[in-house]
Amino acid sequence: MAKEYLRTFRLYDFDEVEKHLLITGDLKGDCASCRALGIDFYTAGTCPECGTPFKYCASRRLEMNPGERFQWARRMQEKRPDLVLIDYSDYAKILGKKKAKDIFG
Ligand SMILES: [Zn+2]
Repeated sequence: MAKEYLRTFRLYDFDEVEKHLLITGDLKGDCASCRALGIDFYTAGTCPECGTPFKYCASRRLEMNPGERFQWARRMQEKRPDLVLIDYSDYAKILGKKKAKDIFG
């Protein structure tokens, strides 16, 4: 049987994800921890700015191009089998909630 990508739900320590997340854009990525830009997401094991090791990966591009989701997953899985792929909109939603809590809570 052919292998296919299915999105799954798992419980994560959000601070841990935020600290080790590599966000991919069109050509370059950025570090969610220190916001460094211009990172080569196919090769960078750690952030060139803050040195954090990347463990998770999300694509900001898929917000605008959700149809590319599975191509992205396949490509990243091939190039970066070391990273756990997460959904950017989930991440952004929780990050927003966390920030609101920091400000108003
Ligand atoms: Zn960084």
